Amino acid sequence: MSDLKRCTLCGGEADAAGMNGKVPMAKCRECGFVYAAMSDEEIAAANRCGEETKERYTRMQSAFDLAWFDALVRRFPGTNVLDVGCGNGLLLRRYLAAGWNVAGVDPAPWARTDAYRVFADMAQVPRDFYDVVMCTSVLEHIPDPAGMLKLALEVAKPGGIVYMSVPNFGSWAAKCRPERMRAQEVPHHCSFFTARDLRRLCARAGARSYRVRSYGLPLAWDFWRGHRLKVTAPSTPAPSAPASPTWKHRLVAKAYYWAGLWRGDKLELCVTKVA
Ligand SMILES: [Zn+2]
Repeated sequence: MSDLKRCTLCGGEADAAGMNGKVPMAKCRECGFVYAAMSDEEIAAANRCGEETKERYTRMQSAFDLAWFDALVRRFPGTNVLDVGCGNGLLLRRYLAAGWNVAGVDPAPWARTDAYRVFADMAQVPRDFYDVVMCTSVLEHIPDPAGMLKLALEVAKPGGIVYMSVPNFGSWAAKCRPERMRAQEVPHHCSFFTARDLRRLCARAGARSYRVRSYGLPLAWDFWRGHRLKVTAPSTPAPSAPASPTWKHRLVAKAYYWAGLWRGDKLELCVTKVA
């Protein structure tokens, strides 16, 4: 029996799948899922979100992100919205600006704000309550993705939506240079999802009504990093005066979404909680 960490998606035994720097990778024999064979403690340590994380995210965020989040707000309106992994609240402040009630979940102390409630973990969040549960770029950071989806479904109200997005390791970019893609993201990313893996995740978490779709222009992040659309990244905006994207940024966000086709940079999972 292999002593490699068992598959974090199906619990099956895995084979070693090379090293990413100092991080051993594993590939499940049963379902083919690829993940970093790190302990839960190592994953938690790699994802400890100190002040430097806040600064890094704030530096990375651009008017493009605002336009992207605005598009999400329009697609998924809801009276009560929860953002899991809310960080500095860029998405929640877009929801606030649209007039919805919002709350966040984030263990980082710097995520706390007077503008809305931030729970330190999912255990504190009321069950069967939220119309929309957002969870963007979170699943790839945590050791138990199916457990996270289950929790998100628990806090959504019957008929509510759980929306998750992750990097797509079935993308053109990852297909061409998988080692490069993964090497960039370990150790803070520990799961490397394809669309098939997300469907399996839904089955494991008991989600019955869902849709998986890829989006995003392949390798777009390199482009955004280089150009940033020539706008200054907003720092944590004041709750009363959120910055707004222009029509140009909205157009680029739309083009970005549709240009990915079936092998885009990202995957989105949209689950409806069946009553
Ligand atoms: Zn597996």
